[in-house]
Amino acid sequence: QSRWAGVPQAPSDKILGLSLLYTLDANPNKVDLGVGAYRDGNGSPWILPSVRMAEKILQDTESDKEYSPILGSPKFIQLVQKLLFAHDTSGFQLLADGRIVTAQGLSGTGSLRVLAEFLHRFHSNHHVKVPDPTWTNHLSIMKDSGLTTSAYRYYDQKSNALDFDGLLEDLSRSEEGTIVLLHLSCHNPTGVDSSPEQWDEIIKMLSERNLVPVVDTAYQGFQSGDPVKDLATLFKFNDAVAMGKIPTYLLSQSFAKNMGLYGERVGTLSVICSGPRESERVRSQLAKLIRPMYSSPPTHGSKLVETILGNEDIYNQWLNDVKTMCDRLDSMRLLLYDKLTVEYNSALDWEHIITQKGMFCYTGLNPRQVEKLRSTKSVYMTADGRISIAGICLKNIDYLARSIDEVTK
Ligand code: PMP
Repeated sequence: QSRWAGVPQAPSDKILGLSLLYTLDANPNKVDLGVGAYRDGNGSPWILPSVRMAEKILQDTESDKEYSPILGSPKFIQLVQKLLFAHDTSGFQLLADGRIVTAQGLSGTGSLRVLAEFLHRFHSNHHVKVPDPTWTNHLSIMKDSGLTTSAYRYYDQKSNALDFDGLLEDLSRSEEGTIVLLHLSCHNPTGVDSSPEQWDEIIKMLSERNLVPVVDTAYQGFQSGDPVKDLATLFKFNDAVAMGKIPTYLLSQSFAKNMGLYGERVGTLSVICSGPRESERVRSQLAKLIRPMYSSPPTHGSKLVETILGNEDIYNQWLNDVKTMCDRLDSMRLLLYDKLTVEYNSALDWEHIITQKGMFCYTGLNPRQVEKLRSTKSVYMTADGRISIAGICLKNIDYLARSIDEVTK
């Protein structure tokens, strides 16, 4: 008799399950629009030239493979803080005043997990509101950390646009201290973001209702093509803290997409505090929390990030690399839109393909159409109709547009 006979089969991860089906599909025209990883114009994974440059330097200069400190290498933390918080006056001031605690996390997922564990341990309200829809792992991360979740309205299926009134109303109905998860830009899965004016109103609501914002940025640079410009909303949060409108926010940030360092698991979490003494206490508790989880973060990815951010030439190359990725995604959006509306003369409105931003597009295709695309055309996407724009290239775009047009006729 096995001890584990009672362990039930867990449902397979939807996106990874989709990748498996894709791999097994023998159709030479098959298209993978499931997984959110960048592909170049030939449909291949891309190691960024800036990462290659950093790898070369590391190969020549790396002197040890020792453990990093629990919260990550101090130089890495300092450079990431400079990237995230030194481009606006308020952020710069918060940094100078010792009010920002930053630690390396295991990419975005691990960083969010540490933040959620921190909130569970030190925040009195254990409820998190997340957008409807959101990245599904958000829900699991929060729940597994002992927090409860509910959704605030975000996406309007009818207009394929933001349901801003619904969003604001749902935030306004939140109990004081409720944690609110917000995607900084390039919302996953919808590609729909709030406008700068709408962000002002959201921050005002967070302030009025005394809510605790957890800001997640996994696609920094994919909105405008410039990682610094994409921080415009974060600057608003910094202003709000500096002006005393909100006492804190928590930030999770990932280098998976914007440096193409998916498997290196490198990202950061930050907590904004009221002053250096509080920062010191928060820092000590983050270390206490991380130590029994994974002891210390991996070092190869963070050394690459450190090299890229710390060397002017490589940093400039990285800015070019981000622009290259963003431009290619934008051009595929435009081409898909053109093909559907002009070449195939689709009767449907596809405008949202070009107004949405980032790696993903919420097509508005219903589950029946998604299933038909998979079973009859070997075009793979998640059941919610989300496509990864990165999976589109000149080789497959015509087939894709024709297939979408056919199943939506
Ligand atoms: N947040 C969002 C919204 C994401 O889409 C992702 C990646 N899919 C992440 C966080 C974290 O990704 P990673 O752990 O690979 O950095």
